[in-house]
Amino acid sequence: MLYYSTNNRQATTDFRGATIEGQPADKGLYFPAHLSKLAPSFIDRLQDYSRAEVALEVIRPYTGDCLPEDVLKRIVAETVDFDFPLVPVTDTVFSLELYHGPTLAFKDVGARFMSRCLGYFARGEDRPYTVLVATSGDTGGAVANAFAGIEGVSVIILYPSGKVSHVQELQLTTFGGNISAVEVDGSFDDCQRLVKQAFTDRDLAERYLLTSANSINVARWLPQQFYYFFAAQQWPYKDEPPVVSVPSGNFGNLCAGLLAANAGLPVRHFLAACNANDVVPRYLASGLYAPAQAVATLSNAMDVGDPSNFVRILELFGHDPVLIRAALSGCRIDDETTKKVVADLYNENNYLADPHGAVAYEALRQYLTAHEGGRGYFLETAHPVKFFDAVEPVIGTAVPLPDAIKALLGKEKKATPLAADYASFKDWLLR
Ligand SMILES: *Cc1c(COP(=O)(O)O)cnc(C)c1O
Repeated sequence: MLYYSTNNRQATTDFRGATIEGQPADKGLYFPAHLSKLAPSFIDRLQDYSRAEVALEVIRPYTGDCLPEDVLKRIVAETVDFDFPLVPVTDTVFSLELYHGPTLAFKDVGARFMSRCLGYFARGEDRPYTVLVATSGDTGGAVANAFAGIEGVSVIILYPSGKVSHVQELQLTTFGGNISAVEVDGSFDDCQRLVKQAFTDRDLAERYLLTSANSINVARWLPQQFYYFFAAQQWPYKDEPPVVSVPSGNFGNLCAGLLAANAGLPVRHFLAACNANDVVPRYLASGLYAPAQAVATLSNAMDVGDPSNFVRILELFGHDPVLIRAALSGCRIDDETTKKVVADLYNENNYLADPHGAVAYEALRQYLTAHEGGRGYFLETAHPVKFFDAVEPVIGTAVPLPDAIKALLGKEKKATPLAADYASFKDWLLR
């Protein structure tokens, strides 16, 4: 399987190259040259397969001969080694809970898959790979957890001091070993600037094999198809495909769902559920794509003004807006409504949603009201405890801590404090 750059179809590489490089030098995104189609007999009998078997079938065409079958089998089994329950919320709406992984958010799936692929590719190198990543919160924890103990790979995570939650900070600073945390005296944008500059620095290239682990990496994006198939295994209405609502920021998750549907997974319609950062819903309504400055909201993992994976959605539908709109509708939910939905779901349906899931629930509810007779599910992308400061005032009670978080609380934070300037960061890297 080859991958081409969305900026230049001649710039191709294989799965290994795309995983290591992350983003093509021309700043496009890697996109598979062939889209997998699954046998209808396989789709019909999804319930007969284990999660690992389903995942293997879905991903194998995309890894090609870069990973031997037994290695890929082990990698997918480790990637999907936790529950993905489809939970009824109302008569017509289910929640696909993607937060039962080690850092309680769906990003665990992509990060676990990528870490193990990179660990395998590192065996051919004489130096370790060094993953450099900037985080505003969730990504850092998922990456730290996924890469901890992976041989041949070390990870450096930059995070803005005082701007991530206490739990998020513990999730990325308590591993030690091959995971280093750098606490930058600045903003998330400063962290990202330092990482970007490091990638272009020749002195660093002599010393380090640098690679990134952000969400545009194909090894993080493609495995996100898995759980749409796990939802289908649990969907009770065989002859009535679901409407699927995806809380979206950078649109990697939604684009993976569209790819799964393209491969044959039955889905009636997709919803791009957004907060006030609604460039894609506006594009779907008007045909005009107008990137904007991100604004801060309660569902902050979706505060993205120019979603990087949007170009992959265009590519998937051959840049045809008619086809895109046939598959996908957009919806914008503001913070006031989000709070009300969290409260109503808790009080009336005995379901505790996080702000991201609540946005997706409400988008689905509105769609089903306007299009009678349908059923669907929304992706619940994070455990509500990760956003307790938004959730607790609304439900008026504390969110119980899951064991994964309790285990972190007594641990010691290990981070290197640095000023937000490139010279200090480089000195530290070359120390
Ligand atoms: C990252 C994230 C999202 C957005 O996912 P995209 O793939 O960037 O659209 C939604 N919810 C949560 C909780 C996240 O961490």
